[in-house]
Amino acid sequence: MQQRRETLALAYTVALTLYEKDLLYRRWAAGQGGVYAPVTAATPPNPYLSHLPERDIRTPSGRRLTLINPAYMNRQVYELAQKIGQPQGHITSLKPLRPENAPDPWEAAALKVCEQGQAEVSGIGKLDGKEVLRLMRPVMTEKSCLGCHAGQGYRLGEIRGGISLAVPMTSLWQAQSSANLSLTVSHGLLWLLGVAGIFLGITRLERANQCIIALVNTDSLTRLANRRFFIDLLEKAMAFAKRHEQALSVIMADLDNFKSVNDTYGHQAGDQVLVAFAQVMQASIRQEDLAARFGGEEFIVMLPGITLEQAVILGERLRELLSNLKLPPLKTGVTASFGITQYRPDDTLESLVNRADAALYAAKAAGRNRVMSG
Ligand code: GH3
Ligand code: MG
Ligand code: MG
Repeated sequence: MQQRRETLALAYTVALTLYEKDLLYRRWAAGQGGVYAPVTAATPPNPYLSHLPERDIRTPSGRRLTLINPAYMNRQVYELAQKIGQPQGHITSLKPLRPENAPDPWEAAALKVCEQGQAEVSGIGKLDGKEVLRLMRPVMTEKSCLGCHAGQGYRLGEIRGGISLAVPMTSLWQAQSSANLSLTVSHGLLWLLGVAGIFLGITRLERANQCIIALVNTDSLTRLANRRFFIDLLEKAMAFAKRHEQALSVIMADLDNFKSVNDTYGHQAGDQVLVAFAQVMQASIRQEDLAARFGGEEFIVMLPGITLEQAVILGERLRELLSNLKLPPLKTGVTASFGITQYRPDDTLESLVNRADAALYAAKAAGRNRVMSG
């Protein structure tokens, strides 16, 4: 709609520019009192100027010249324009001297409107079967006009007729539709880019979020869950076990004499032992279990749906796997003690963890590298 208005405005501007240019040439020619041109088949003497004594003259060499008044000049130019398919103009009047200058129905209606005082009439119409924008502007009677037209009773300042212009719309509509197409395509591309950008942004944000969540919940050395995350999930697991009357066991493990590992082989070697033990645990549990680093060299595992007896079997397996682990540069193996307990319906988080801790303490007290339950 907006584009259509712009195309119509463009056509109107073309028509107006042509009108003003035509008027300027007319004024110039009228100001000269007409101009002389050689008489040819295309430019015969103008019969409507026959009353003028010097309508036809001869050059000193004998060439015949005839007077061209503004209307004649305009007519010839407009005929030329029509021949080469340019916007058409027509000098017309409700009282034409020349019958061919009589208005067509649109022009007649427009001239009548102009006589009522309207400065111009424009609109879309058909001319020779083609869509055109038509513009009619009145031509006022100026002093220079009266030489030929005084006989018709016109007075100075009166509307004597009009110049009507027709600008073909086809090429303008074509230009508009190709501009529309490229606008649609570029808007479409922009939209696509925007959507892709938003999508990419959301995906990246989502990934970054997941990354942050993972980082917040993970122990950076062992890549196991950290204590805070474990406690959050243990509370949920306890609630689930209570509501569904299901078993839930907890294994707490602490490396034996770990201080001496650090003292003998260095802190970095100690770190590698922690990572190795974490991997053993992670590889030994099920998807629904959760292993975490609970403190320095202390680990904890929750086992939903697992009874104390089953948990003790897993504890034993972990103990054995660790004790058989070759951990260069350590010359001796590393062991851990395990304290295991099962959730009871009246347990709090603290009582459950304390019971596992007490069992672990008992295992240490009993000589380490062993599993105790409580
Ligand atoms: P116990 O058998 O009684 O548990 O003896 P322990 O030496 O393991 O216990 P203690 O509590 O005396 O010492 C724990 C050691 O664990 C001390 C500390 O340097 C070490 N440790 C804690 N966190 C880390 C860690 O992230 N990396 C390393 N390399 N060592 C750690
Ligand atoms: Mg220890
Ligand atoms: Mg410890």
